[in-house]
Amino acid sequence: MTMNQAAALRVKWKEQAHLSPCEHLNLELEWNDVGHPTGTYICIICGEPVAHKS
Ligand SMILES: [Zn+2]
Repeated sequence: MTMNQAAALRVKWKEQAHLSPCEHLNLELEWNDVGHPTGTYICIICGEPVAHKS
């Protein structure tokens, strides 16, 4: 996903009430504006960047 999509996910996540913190189980590689991977993985549920070694 793009950095903008990740930012939108974070906003959406914070608008919702959650009983427990996100466990970041589903990750996707982040891409910058010119279509290159940033090397960061983003949780597709809450949009938080997650340190991840593949
Ligand atoms: Zn998450």
